[in-house]
Amino acid sequence: MRNLYISKLWIWERRIIMDLIGIELEHAIEIIKDNVPKKSKAYELSLWDANKRILAEDIYSPIDNPPFDKSPLDGFALRSQDLKGASKANPIRISVVDVIYAGHYSLKELKAGQAARIMTGAPIPSGADCVIRLEDVEEEDGFIIVSKELKHHDNYCFKGEDVIKGTHILSKGEKITYIEQGILASLGIDRVKVYDKPRLALLVTGDELVAPGKELALGKIYDSNLTLLYSRLSELGFEPVIADYLPDNPSLAADKLKEVCKKADIIVTTGGVSVGDKDILHEVLPLMGAKRLFWRVNLKPGTPAMFATYEDRVMFHLSGNPFAAVTTFELLVRPYLAKVSKDKDLDLNRKKAILDNDFTKESKGRRFIRARETDGTVTIPQVSKHASGILSSMIGCNCLIDIPAGSPKLAKGTEVEIIYL
Ligand code: AMP
Ligand code: MG
Repeated sequence: MRNLYISKLWIWERRIIMDLIGIELEHAIEIIKDNVPKKSKAYELSLWDANKRILAEDIYSPIDNPPFDKSPLDGFALRSQDLKGASKANPIRISVVDVIYAGHYSLKELKAGQAARIMTGAPIPSGADCVIRLEDVEEEDGFIIVSKELKHHDNYCFKGEDVIKGTHILSKGEKITYIEQGILASLGIDRVKVYDKPRLALLVTGDELVAPGKELALGKIYDSNLTLLYSRLSELGFEPVIADYLPDNPSLAADKLKEVCKKADIIVTTGGVSVGDKDILHEVLPLMGAKRLFWRVNLKPGTPAMFATYEDRVMFHLSGNPFAAVTTFELLVRPYLAKVSKDKDLDLNRKKAILDNDFTKESKGRRFIRARETDGTVTIPQVSKHASGILSSMIGCNCLIDIPAGSPKLAKGTEVEIIYL
């Protein structure tokens, strides 16, 4: 009884304090980013696996590309001076002395009056300074009849015309896409040094949760956060090493989290951070010896977001309501992921847009609402569909509108700030 009384008192105390200690989003992000390890690890990776990774080295071309002068088309390599005066009225006969296919080469040096049949991509033989198209000649018993002049270096690809050996190709910090992969492959590079990726663990709490596909008993709901955030993380390039449920019992949860911290660098949990009897994270963190750096951010939804460190791990504890979890994941976890992985594309991407319909609620505190932006205008789902537990109205949404504290109702035509999802 006494324990119950103390714990009730504790909850009340938390309720009173919670109105006082919320911090601003920008301050929260600062605290979060300050906890990114100062040193970044890097390692070598096969180019094949380097898509979307961030380069941890400058890259210079080890070769000239192409590595030799080559023909850009199927035709005949020859000497332009041999074609001086060639015309329909004055066709010139040239003797064909060799055939060169791509991947092969000719050791013959072309002399006056000689040509080599050559295919696209094959090395131009010495002595030749231009290539005439197959379609532009007539062939006759080992000879070609040419009735047009060609200039020096007509139809001619130069050694190094794509990239000269030693040229700076890519900088440390750049993201490798399929384009960069193609370029590096063209230079013969098959391994690159990239920044290490943090290992992530995703856990959801709540005795009411049932995994999709299982039977729903009375009082239970399907867990959406694990699927939702797992998929979001994968989409952003981080496949969690753990995706699991956390028991609603503080000491079991603390033990489990400690185990998880052995395998992951970043831990994201949802649920259990508010002020209810089962909001266990308040007890879990001291039990495991973690250091809470903030609890409560001045925004809706997801106010009770919590951030903590345990040894050199960081832990984000987000509110369990699915829309709150999505919003605070974007606002708090993403900036950390951007900094730790040095991937600027993960930073919050803000833009101004014009409201396409009314938002008929005043916003005493800062509020984030889901919406869809197209060509600079932004449409919000019906007002009744904005509760933090409602997920269905997110279909088609691609951004959050950042509504400042103290905002009146917003009319169509108002300029608002959005953050792309
Ligand atoms: P909590 O943050 O634990 O207080 O949860 C707030 C609300 O979100 C409650 O109605 C929970 O049932 C619901 N909720 C918590 N976690 C999840 C989840 N993983 N999936 C769906 N709903 C959840
Ligand atoms: Mg809960």
